[in-house]
Amino acid sequence: MALLEAHALTAGYGPIVALRDLDLTVEPGEIVALLGANGAGKTTTLMALAGMNRQATGRVTFKGEEVLGHAPEALVSRGLCLVPEGRRIFGRLSVAENLLMGAAGGGRKGPEVAADRDRLLARFPVLERRYEALASELSGGEQQQLAIARGLMARPTLLLLDEPSLGLAPKLIAAMFELIAELRRDDGMTILVVEQNVHQALDVCDRGYVLRSGRCEMQGTPAELRRRGLERAYLGIPDEMPPSSDGREVAKA
Ligand code: ATP
Repeated sequence: MALLEAHALTAGYGPIVALRDLDLTVEPGEIVALLGANGAGKTTTLMALAGMNRQATGRVTFKGEEVLGHAPEALVSRGLCLVPEGRRIFGRLSVAENLLMGAAGGGRKGPEVAADRDRLLARFPVLERRYEALASELSGGEQQQLAIARGLMARPTLLLLDEPSLGLAPKLIAAMFELIAELRRDDGMTILVVEQNVHQALDVCDRGYVLRSGRCEMQGTPAELRRRGLERAYLGIPDEMPPSSDGREVAKA
């Protein structure tokens, strides 16, 4: 049985249908990438899978149990945790406080929470160094690490990561992808990650789904997606666009 299974998932905002009829599965231990241009519906998908799009219809199961219609907090305690785009950390709280917030609702006792925190601080040394600092004082890369560490404090089985490399310098982007691979390898984490860095995402994932205008345009292993011209879909180059004079295609500005 898949860990996460969506069938005919449709979601949106008022009259806007941002996602239509998505079928998606994530098997235990997989890294699955959700790819596509801006506005393709990737964030909407993650929100719907995490029980955060009230209009979502279709069927989504996590560990065999229904997701839609359940409160996001209930899903977190079942092991499904979303780390949202834009590092929605609490800027006016310290690193320490942000981490503790991640454990809220887990029903764990103080010593257990402290042990989890210590394990995470060992994994993210920068957070240990900045432990007392306000989250708003951290650099972009540090904030992103805090957002993920806060998500891990909930002890998820499945981590939904929304553009974890957004706004990071190239060196930090590489480190973020290493972290994703490490979380699976060392912690047995299952990960569904939304990414704009298609090449790096394909290097780290087992399978990918490509959305375009709210629909799944293609899916498959990285090799299959590369073979089927993923870049074309990702860059949103219309099929009828003529090649430039040197034979290469030109992306629209
Ligand atoms: P990005 O990489 O820019 O975040 P995305 O693939 O994650 O893009 P979504 O954020 O899911 O795309 O947006 C899909 C569509 O839904 C877009 O047309 C967007 O304008 C619209 N949309 C997203 N959030 C809202 C909202 N809160 N209210 C109304 N429309 C929204």
